[in-house]
Amino acid sequence: MERREIIIIGGGPAGAATALYLARRDPALARRALVLEKARHPRAKVCAGGLIPHALACLDELEVGLTVPHVVVDRARVEVPGRRVEVDGRRCCAIVRRAEFDASLVRAARARGVEVREEERVRTLERVGDGVVVTTDRGRYHASLVVGADGSGSLVRRVLVDGHGHRNRDAHGERRAIGRAVMADVPIGDAGSWDGHDRARYDFDFRAVPAGLAGYAWAFPCLIDGRPHVNAGVYARRAGVGPDLRALLHALQVDLGGARVRHQAAPIRCWSRAPFTADRTLLVGDAAGAEPLMGEGISFAFEYGRWAAAEVAAAAAAGTLEWPAAEARFRRSWVGRKLRRLDQAATMFYGRGARLWLALAARWGGAQRIGLCWYNGVDGWDRRSGWAALRATLGGSAVATARTGMQ
Ligand SMILES: Cc1cc2nc3c(=O)[nH]c(=O)nc-3n(C[C@H](O)[C@H](O)[C@H](O)COP(=O)(O)OP(=O)(O)OC[C@H]3O[C@@H](n4cnc5c(N)ncnc54)[C@H](O)[C@@H]3O)c2cc1C
Repeated sequence: MERREIIIIGGGPAGAATALYLARRDPALARRALVLEKARHPRAKVCAGGLIPHALACLDELEVGLTVPHVVVDRARVEVPGRRVEVDGRRCCAIVRRAEFDASLVRAARARGVEVREEERVRTLERVGDGVVVTTDRGRYHASLVVGADGSGSLVRRVLVDGHGHRNRDAHGERRAIGRAVMADVPIGDAGSWDGHDRARYDFDFRAVPAGLAGYAWAFPCLIDGRPHVNAGVYARRAGVGPDLRALLHALQVDLGGARVRHQAAPIRCWSRAPFTADRTLLVGDAAGAEPLMGEGISFAFEYGRWAAAEVAAAAAAGTLEWPAAEARFRRSWVGRKLRRLDQAATMFYGRGARLWLALAARWGGAQRIGLCWYNGVDGWDRRSGWAALRATLGGSAVATARTGMQ
């Protein structure tokens, strides 16, 4: 049985980010780590591929950069019941194709000395005295520590974390944490022509919220093999609750005037009170929980990766992983606070007072600009305390600062 100090299960953004941050923090330890990925990159992933500025900042910080084809979005159109809002945010988002993007991250991790074994699916996990035995369809490994980066359906979560003697486990909260999204890539125009669609704007539509949708519909411009498309989709914070997502997506496709193409659907595990650490185990990315308001998970995949790299490096040095303390550190950090606030925002915007909150947000220009800066993580806005953000929202000069911050 091969022995490894650290095995990262899953080679999506969270697994790759963990490997990249580990290589930055402790290159020797990273060379002794192993990533196991069941697919072979470039592999398909059901995702709209929107990278918010904070995700782009992480790529810069890791000196990976954005090397794959992408569309830069600098405007947003937001529809709420009875009102349309246009927000000019300068660089709001870069939209990639996940197959290309994820493959580029894995290439970068390999270039930094991390071993990645593809087409190797983890089948079972078993905790033993001094580690975890990981059995794949190719062999068996002994890992001192396991990082579960295996997405929303995480096997690592199910086997090593859920039901692992957690007193605060909340089965109902757990069920509420699973969201769902459907999407379709609608061809628009010919190569080079966007057929009247604005290639620099993305759209969010909250008009189905009063009908029970705890989420929104989106339309993102994107390039597939160099041809203009719109990635259209519908997100619901809770799976199986509210209107039929496929019917909403179909109506959106008709609005877009594109051909009706097959949809794809996937669950999104959202941030909740459910634990994401256990003995010798840390979960990162969707396995731990994406943000519940918009279902965005890539920027958080990087932040989970940063946290996990720091924790495993410290554990390797100390010879033990203090997993409850590790989880508490994450929850108390600015990222944990941001996830908690987005969870609260989801409760406000998709709950009983939804109409009121959506109407307020649509009418208050200052809050829109600050909210966009905070959400996108521009210039560290998401690290400010709640009071500082509120004071800034109320102060006109700060709104101007926020506006320049986006440029
Ligand atoms: C329709 C849709 C649209 C979305 N749009 C956006 C968006 O625009 N922007 C954004 O930020 N987020 C978006 N998200 C969320 C985003 O896709 C996720 O947050 C992100 O992929 C999380 O990365 P991850 O590495 O945790 O998981 P994943 O990307 O799911 O990667 C997990 C990896 O683990 C591998 N794996 C799984 N099980 C095993 C196993 N047993 N053994 C070995 N390997 C395994 C998988 O093959 C996969 O490569 C969207 C999600 C959906 C469903």
